[in-house]
Amino acid sequence: MNKLSKFALLHLLCLPLTGALAQGNPQKFPWPEGKRMALSLSFDDARKTNVRQGTDLFDKYGVQATFYVVPSNVKPDLELWKKAVKNGHEMGNHSIVHPCSGNFVWSRERALEMYTIDKMRAELTEANRQIKELLGVTPTTYAYPCGITTIGRGKNAQSFVPLIADMFVAGRRWLDEAPVDPNYCDMALLTGVEMDGKDFEQLLPMIRQAEKAGQWLVLAGHETADSGNQTSRLAMLEKLIQYAKDPKNGIWIAPIGTIAQYVKEKRDAGLINTPQTLYAAAGKPLTLEARYGTAVGPKIEYMPEWKAFGWFTGKDKVEWSLEIPQTSQYDVVLDWSVSDEEAGKNFVLETNKKLLSGKVEKSGSWETFKEKKIGRIKLEKGRHQLAFRSEEPFEKGALLDLRTIKLIPVK
Ligand SMILES: [Zn+2]
Repeated sequence: MNKLSKFALLHLLCLPLTGALAQGNPQKFPWPEGKRMALSLSFDDARKTNVRQGTDLFDKYGVQATFYVVPSNVKPDLELWKKAVKNGHEMGNHSIVHPCSGNFVWSRERALEMYTIDKMRAELTEANRQIKELLGVTPTTYAYPCGITTIGRGKNAQSFVPLIADMFVAGRRWLDEAPVDPNYCDMALLTGVEMDGKDFEQLLPMIRQAEKAGQWLVLAGHETADSGNQTSRLAMLEKLIQYAKDPKNGIWIAPIGTIAQYVKEKRDAGLINTPQTLYAAAGKPLTLEARYGTAVGPKIEYMPEWKAFGWFTGKDKVEWSLEIPQTSQYDVVLDWSVSDEEAGKNFVLETNKKLLSGKVEKSGSWETFKEKKIGRIKLEKGRHQLAFRSEEPFEKGALLDLRTIKLIPVK
């Protein structure tokens, strides 16, 4: 959308913009074909009922699910599992020996408390190899057995989330209490909500919550049968699928890998504002992109088509969280646009103290971005909240559109 027309329109109509939001205006995630939310069904361990009963139901409705398989469990029904692959169901990695906490006595021989990162990497690599050999596909997503994401104990405990982020597009947890927010989530820690033993009506409030917020509900279960322990009941699944397939409910139902890939592509293209800490490397420039900043204030919005923050009024600011490895001086380069009429207001760059200030110079138009050095700052080693805002309050118009701030170390 043309910024000028959007700006003019909002001001002409004097639309009441949402009051004083602490964190800017939340972006609605751009799901495909106007869908309002995403839904994934996932089942762990390669239980026999998955391919003897579950896939018949899914195939009847043309719905694809995700199965986190332990390779040895696939072998007894290999032909049925191959058929599931042919019908588009995703096969994910769930390790070889299903290591869990040794608090489960059955897991003592393979307790996560005794694992190393190297041992985990070797096992997950081997699981991928075996799944490829058995079923012809290489998993792109992982489900943490028992939902546990650490190895070792106490002071020597270590997260293996970085390993999952390195090996897979996404990792799914277990027994979580909320849907995934695709604007914010760590892809290696997707929340997984239990559907075993539940009725459709029990899941409906969370589906509605996800729809309202434009989120992604990832359901997780085990057996797919009429009844039993650790079972996502077929009657519940049928109701759920009918609801999800009804076009008026606006749900994109697809495997975790498919949706994860879609979310990743939107993020990689800079279309999503995902606030996160940026880690500078010693002696290397660091670019603070708008998409990694946090918008704070009543009107500020991330504009994906410009990869910039706009609607930057006197009460708005952007904050970046950054980690500096050693105390250094940086030249600061601003990348902005502004109309000639709005140019000339004063800005401040600050942490817990003012670092520099200056005047927003003309860039030519709202559509023309310009880069210019605005000064030099010193940042101490450690974590900072670096904020960019207007130096003084103003009532009308905008400060600028802000795309990036580059920090270039001074040699
Ligand atoms: Zn499991």
